[in-house]
Amino acid sequence: MTVQHPLLEPGASALATPLPRVLRPQRAVPSDAVRPTRAEINLANLRHNLRVLQRTAAGAEVWAVLKADGYGHGAKAVARTLERAGATGLCVALLEEGIELREAGIRVPILVMGGYYGRAWGEILRHELTPVVFDPGQIEELADEVRYSSSEPIAVHVKVDTGMGRLGVMPKDLGTLGASLLRHPEVRLQGLMTHFACADTGQGIDDQLDRFEAASASLRAMGLSAELRHAANSAAALSSPRARLDLVRPGIALFGVSPSEGLSTELRPVMRIQSEVIALRELGAGMSAGYGATWRARRPSRVATVPMGYADGLSRGLSNNGHVLVRGKRAPIVGVVSMDMTMIDVTEIDGVRLGDEAVLLGAQKGPLGSDAITTEEVARQLGTIPWEVLTAVSRRVPRFYREP
Ligand SMILES: *Cc1c(COP(=O)(O)O)cnc(C)c1O
Repeated sequence: MTVQHPLLEPGASALATPLPRVLRPQRAVPSDAVRPTRAEINLANLRHNLRVLQRTAAGAEVWAVLKADGYGHGAKAVARTLERAGATGLCVALLEEGIELREAGIRVPILVMGGYYGRAWGEILRHELTPVVFDPGQIEELADEVRYSSSEPIAVHVKVDTGMGRLGVMPKDLGTLGASLLRHPEVRLQGLMTHFACADTGQGIDDQLDRFEAASASLRAMGLSAELRHAANSAAALSSPRARLDLVRPGIALFGVSPSEGLSTELRPVMRIQSEVIALRELGAGMSAGYGATWRARRPSRVATVPMGYADGLSRGLSNNGHVLVRGKRAPIVGVVSMDMTMIDVTEIDGVRLGDEAVLLGAQKGPLGSDAITTEEVARQLGTIPWEVLTAVSRRVPRFYREP
């Protein structure tokens, strides 16, 4: 007897109608890099941050959140490092991201949190990923796929919306969802999770946890108990002991950014972006630099060009606003950031030469001193959050992994 594949029209063969394949664009790799602009990823600092979170989690597991290519750091290398250093699970947003990590040889559980699977349940089973579900339809489709492929029951985590207003089953619909789980033994409840709306300020954490505990109790009353209950992102993991439960899901803190001011001073930045001065010119008073002539020299000035622009993830919002480090000192960005290049005023920095290192993010020690441009500082200048600054670094910037 042939079994009808749940994703194909009746009678269609899986060979004649290929299921969608997941394609991933490639990032520039170090061996292709001619341009000196690069992101250095400090793996020792990454491991240090994991240890800080493990210590803080005090017995709860740490499942590292590596969505959006590991917050821009390169998910595969970050995942390998964290797996070896004792992270017991990983979380991603997209099915595609989960597949990428499995194909890179990652063995620990991978939770796919985004909740969208495009009905590609076969990919979930094939790659042994753990989906987050919140809708009875998802449970039915998943159960069909398990039966069709004669797989073992699949573990899922159920997400409850306790106040984020984004994704998850609403508490009033828990009974229906629970009934669907009971009808489908192919789908096994392993985890129960929620997500905080205001973990950075601490506001509402207790209310959301109260609702989460009520949800957990009502499922338990139906005979459904989850062995892994989790809620905490970085901010909640660092600040709220009650939120730590069975496991914590930190993202940004692993990359050395404190999710709100002063929450942890022990974290060490993981990404550093460096380039070089590739051109230098003397501009007389009144001469301008860059598109639109938005900056004019008020005095005779030295202007250096650095080959990183908005297409690399250096926001145009830093035009006439941000800084770059040269020789250990801060040089202001002058004119608008263009697609591939940025100009800086080095008039006050003695001895700048072609080929000098220019640091756009992170620390620099130079002959004139030492300083650092933090992700938090750049985010403040742009009126955004550090998450956006890190994930904006584009695939044109090769990542170099450093084991100091
Ligand atoms: C992104 C995300 C996290 C991690 O958040 P950070 O603030 O970066 O620690 C945790 N849980 C969910 C559901 C997320 O989407």
